[in-house]
Amino acid sequence: MTGFAERYIKSVFRTIEENRLVEEGDRIFAALSGGKDSSSMVYCLKKFVDEKDIECELRGFYINLDDSEEVMNPLEELMDMLDMDLIRIDPPDITKYKGSRPICSVCGAVKRYLMNKIPREMGANKLATGHNMDDFIVFFLKNLIGKNYSWISNFKPRVDSTHPKLLTRIRPLFNVGNKENERFCNEMNIPYARKHICRFKARECSYNRKRDNWYNVLYEIERWNRNFRRQMISAIEDLSRLFSREKEGRLNECSVCGEPTSGKICTYCRIFKNQQMTKNSLNQRMKY
Ligand code: AMP
Ligand code: ZN
Repeated sequence: MTGFAERYIKSVFRTIEENRLVEEGDRIFAALSGGKDSSSMVYCLKKFVDEKDIECELRGFYINLDDSEEVMNPLEELMDMLDMDLIRIDPPDITKYKGSRPICSVCGAVKRYLMNKIPREMGANKLATGHNMDDFIVFFLKNLIGKNYSWISNFKPRVDSTHPKLLTRIRPLFNVGNKENERFCNEMNIPYARKHICRFKARECSYNRKRDNWYNVLYEIERWNRNFRRQMISAIEDLSRLFSREKEGRLNECSVCGEPTSGKICTYCRIFKNQQMTKNSLNQRMKY
């Protein structure tokens, strides 16, 4: 293993240990997109569980937004490499969505909803995602300029559940960024999809492009301020602990589907309310 890969693993293991991301008896679903981040995330989690000999269930979970070979082949190779099963679920067909929301916001809401609901119904107590250091710095800056301070309490490696139907979320890659994750996957031959995983690029998905602009700014600053990203994420984590999660308000159960939400009806149900897809047809499509 290269010196870089050793340092990388050490850093991810430290994040896992210091924040108790993995505990005896856990049933963790690793949310996989096929991309470099979540592939590296599940690789490190599996290595941690094996090396520390922790009694814990770890399963791969994929929301079938794109079943092209470019995504499915690396995902299947990765599961073979780690000797893990992949749970695949079919989301509602969001290409049929005719409402006024941008398709990226619909896609994001569907993913967030299913990433909590399905693993929980299948017995998980924690959801692991591949969100990384750069993602959190960008989320933080956007929330700061939007004066959306209550969200800052979420910017840490472990976000505990605040509702019986909400999974505890864990982010093993909180202290490593895009550049490091890509290099780690390449050096360790970890399979991942090389394409940007978004089926709506041709339509109106500006989400990834805008996100890339933000990332470029972070890397530009780092060219003349060497530890910029590390210093930022450390300050953000400190700040997140100063903001209480109470400010987010108490969660209710959606009056349509029963999933946790801050309002009366959850975003998912509001999105699909006036669509041709009825609740029944949505549920039928959700086969798992
Ligand atoms: P994104 O918002 O696309 O950057 O994804 C953030 C994280 O969500 C990824 O690192 C994955 O852990 C998870 N994720 C994204 N897309 C999927 C998907 N189709 N199925 C399961 N998990 C996903
Ligand atoms: Zn709902």
